[in-house]
Amino acid sequence: ECTMKTVKDYIRTIPDFPHEGIMFRDVTTLFADPRGLRLAIDQLLHPYAGVQVDKIVGLEARGFILGGAIAHQLGKGFVPIRKQGKLPGKTLSQAYTLEYGEAVMEIHEDAIEAGEKVLVVDDLLATGGTAVAGLKLLERLGADVIGCAFVIDLPDLGGRRVLEGLDMPVHCLCSYE
Ligand code: 5GP
Repeated sequence: ECTMKTVKDYIRTIPDFPHEGIMFRDVTTLFADPRGLRLAIDQLLHPYAGVQVDKIVGLEARGFILGGAIAHQLGKGFVPIRKQGKLPGKTLSQAYTLEYGEAVMEIHEDAIEAGEKVLVVDDLLATGGTAVAGLKLLERLGADVIGCAFVIDLPDLGGRRVLEGLDMPVHCLCSYE
């Protein structure tokens, strides 16, 4: 019998986290498994074989884990986009809407030069709010974003449509309806 596991097989669902009614897709079990982690990184990289990429941008916080591994694999640098107040140097800030209220993402203003080709990475695409805030920061720096890669898509929340509406290529490894 074939026992080849897929990325989705390593992801755990925790009901009612962080509050009641939410099915939290937990990627710590994917990251903790050596085959799971390698499978996810290999599959995230697959569409970009032979594509020029200068830097990998990871969205806080699970995008750092994936983005660091991808950057290392490609022999490129890694740039974090962080929640407000965490980056020590001069930053650009971008507010975005959450389920309740607002949040702010930041990037170091000298982290990327205009025209550099960038791949954006995060663990999960829901409404797309986080990714769009990141893309706005990158646009303000003049980055040439070649695509956004996620382990998980939640298609009901519409993030993929939002990103594709901005002409942004989106790559996801699995989805939950
Ligand atoms: P969005 O901004 O697209 O609505 O939400 C995506 C962001 O929220 C990502 O940074 C992602 O890490 C986080 N997120 C939201 N729901 C989940 C979930 O069920 N599992 C995980 N791992 N992250 C989530």
